[in-house]
Amino acid sequence: MNMIFLGPPGAGKGTMAQLLMVDEKIPQISTGDMLRQAMKAGTEMGLSAKRYIEAGELVPDEVVIGIVKDRLQADDCKNGYILDGFPRTVPQAEALGQFAKIDVALNIDLADEVIIKRLSGRRVCLKCGATYHTSTLNGSETCAACGEPLVQRKDDAPETVKNRLAVYAAQTAPLIAYYEKKGVLKTVKCEPHATVQENYAQVRKVLELA
Ligand code: ADP
Ligand code: ZN
Repeated sequence: MNMIFLGPPGAGKGTMAQLLMVDEKIPQISTGDMLRQAMKAGTEMGLSAKRYIEAGELVPDEVVIGIVKDRLQADDCKNGYILDGFPRTVPQAEALGQFAKIDVALNIDLADEVIIKRLSGRRVCLKCGATYHTSTLNGSETCAACGEPLVQRKDDAPETVKNRLAVYAAQTAPLIAYYEKKGVLKTVKCEPHATVQENYAQVRKVLELA
């Protein structure tokens, strides 16, 4: 199954995609993770993406389209994949349609006020992409999976989060109607107090996975 995960920043796309990746044995392809890795490695692409990301703006379409097009050629995409954070604009969706067949666009929905709280406590591992929340870390500052120090993303600062939500509403939310028209949209509403496992069970149900 070739899937897209849509939804506002902080809705839990990455967390759900990582669980599904393990259970379904298909890769999670996160443009955000790939861009952050390029920034960390100091590649030319990483350096040019940095100022957009840190301001909460979108990286130019041609950059992310190129990354995804290359990535989907890899062997591990043959049996399906989860695109997490791409497409984020209508032109990106149009481009994707030229080189991929999307079976499901899953819209993961969550209220704005919950998002701001979530993102301000978010910590990430730059090595494996795992995400955590300070409320469950019990003071730990390293990744449970690989031992790397956890960091707070610069774009999780409150002012930048506001800008990201505005960018989402203006540029990405129209994709919900776009994929609905194509007949592949499914929506899961994440409840603010539900656990990760409860939300994941909802996701599997909506995707009709056993
Ligand atoms: P979020 O937690 O907001 O979903 P991501 O980790 O997916 O964040 O992305 C972080 C940042 O990387 C975005 O705010 C944007 O600057 C950039 N980015 C990621 N994916 C894309 C994309 N498809 N198009 C443009 N910019 C992107
Ligand atoms: Zn890690």
